[in-house]
Amino acid sequence: MKFFGKKKDEEQLDQDKEKSKTIAHPELKVISGSSVSKSTPTPKQPIPEPADEELIPQVDNVIIVASGKGGVGKSTIAVNIAIALSEMCDKVGLLDSDVYGPSIPTMMGIKEQPKTTENKKLIPLQSHNISLMSIGFMVSEDQALIWRGPMIHSAIRQMLGDVIWGELDYLVIDMPPGTGDAQLSLSQTLPLTGAVIVTTPQDVALVDVRRSIGMCNRMNVPILGIIENMSYFISPENQQRIAIFGSGGGKKMSEDLGIPLLGQIPIDPQICECGDLGVPITVAYPESPQSEAFRRAAQQLVGQVEEFEQDELTIT
Ligand code: ADP
Repeated sequence: MKFFGKKKDEEQLDQDKEKSKTIAHPELKVISGSSVSKSTPTPKQPIPEPADEELIPQVDNVIIVASGKGGVGKSTIAVNIAIALSEMCDKVGLLDSDVYGPSIPTMMGIKEQPKTTENKKLIPLQSHNISLMSIGFMVSEDQALIWRGPMIHSAIRQMLGDVIWGELDYLVIDMPPGTGDAQLSLSQTLPLTGAVIVTTPQDVALVDVRRSIGMCNRMNVPILGIIENMSYFISPENQQRIAIFGSGGGKKMSEDLGIPLLGQIPIDPQICECGDLGVPITVAYPESPQSEAFRRAAQQLVGQVEEFEQDELTIT
């Protein structure tokens, strides 16, 4: 996860915008500031477009993975949940829309750029049985810094409509942290099955997470559940769980908010190392207790999706 903590002032932003007019990927139309029309809505005054059912018609379920802030393990969860889902169903896609720190290609061991077809559609890369696309393929880090709402909106639409996703049971989307433009864009762009909110025991009571949840509620995105990451450490000596950051936070939050706790993932150096090496732990050590925790969370998630579908059938 890369952090871009400093906010640039407006003047610097304008200069950077000019500089960024060359794009990292030749087939993509958005990304440069120049291609965003002046009449495009700003994030503060969004003009809601109708959700576009036709953008990815062959995708059954779209799940967003969101968090109130960066560094809580959102991408790690997205990657390992996608892999666990792919063990349960046929086809799973993973879209990294975290413009501010697109780390999923690294975690999935992808080094090449996606190829394009003759009619300029992008072909997702394949890794660990997952179809993958990342906004990081399209933009350099310093460009991402100056992205504004309309650019993010266009890029996300392209990542959906201009990519040959084909038939998927699940498309997992790793969102940028926070409650900003990308969330707004996505929820306006296509019907989402629901959101998974990632938090850590230290952060459970924090306003960030609640804000994320509030955002989903405002956008009518069903919240499928919370995953608490870095919940406990498994002692290598006796396999006992040690709650280094305290325990019970995720459970309490889930009870307070009436949102299911889908899973608790241990903090473990192997999870981090495997991500850095491009072979997620669920692939590298599928039998480990850490991988089991991801698998259980994915099973809970599928259970929630099915429950929501059932409810919809009952209502209609
Ligand atoms: P985010 O997407 O929320 O910014 P990342 O998934 O990029 O977070 O994780 C941030 C860092 O923490 C990465 O180096 C990742 O490998 C590490 N990490 C995430 N979850 C765990 C975990 N459960 N145990 C150990 N390291 C973790």
